[in-house]
Amino acid sequence: MSIKQNLLQIKSSLPEQVTLVAVSKTKPISDLMEAYEAGQRIFGENKIQEMTEKWEAMPKDIQWHMIGHVQTNKVKFMAPFVSLIHGVDSLKLLEEINKQALKNNRVIDCLLQIHIAEEETKFGLDKEELLTLLDSKSLSEMKNIRIVGLMGMATFTDDQNQIKKEFTYLKSIFDKMKSLQTENHELKTISMGMSGDYQLAIECGSTMVRIGSSIFGGR
Ligand SMILES: *Cc1c(COP(=O)(O)O)cnc(C)c1O
Repeated sequence: MSIKQNLLQIKSSLPEQVTLVAVSKTKPISDLMEAYEAGQRIFGENKIQEMTEKWEAMPKDIQWHMIGHVQTNKVKFMAPFVSLIHGVDSLKLLEEINKQALKNNRVIDCLLQIHIAEEETKFGLDKEELLTLLDSKSLSEMKNIRIVGLMGMATFTDDQNQIKKEFTYLKSIFDKMKSLQTENHELKTISMGMSGDYQLAIECGSTMVRIGSSIFGGR
């Protein structure tokens, strides 16, 4: 099937409240343009340099999402245009995003990444770290960021029960956090689910799925 066919089939299967991020990392601009021409406007990349190059070359009504781990010293390159940063997991990184957003006279939307997988390798905050971060005075003073939700990645496994448990856990943290809203958070997004597990993620309450290989083919 073509990129267009894959995209349209996945889109038609998603409930209305679920946003599709087309994960285009490593793929050439011609592939992204095929998805663009089929109507896709949100693309996810995991490397800041690659995302910036694609942003420069492509139509300006695209929303670019950074879904990978972010190095503090590279935030400045995406600050002029990035529309949502999924993988925020420290106050230090938020401070840098806030600083660079201010320089660009913008407010940048961020998701806090929560560690839900069993694997040691995945980035993210645990529940205690999340509460500490949300409670910190410096966060409430950052006027150029807005925390709009949470992101998580499940363990890479075939065990559906394990994945379901992790997604359900993320949803429960999200629901608790909603009751703690302050000035610069406005929780509306749970980013969970990829090609292999997005249906399950949606059953567990996902509002944003990040799908790469099922649209663009393997990497
Ligand atoms: C690559 C990637 C995806 C997409 O993975 P697929 O299995 O190709 O759908 C989603 N989220 C993150 C954080 C990624 O790095």
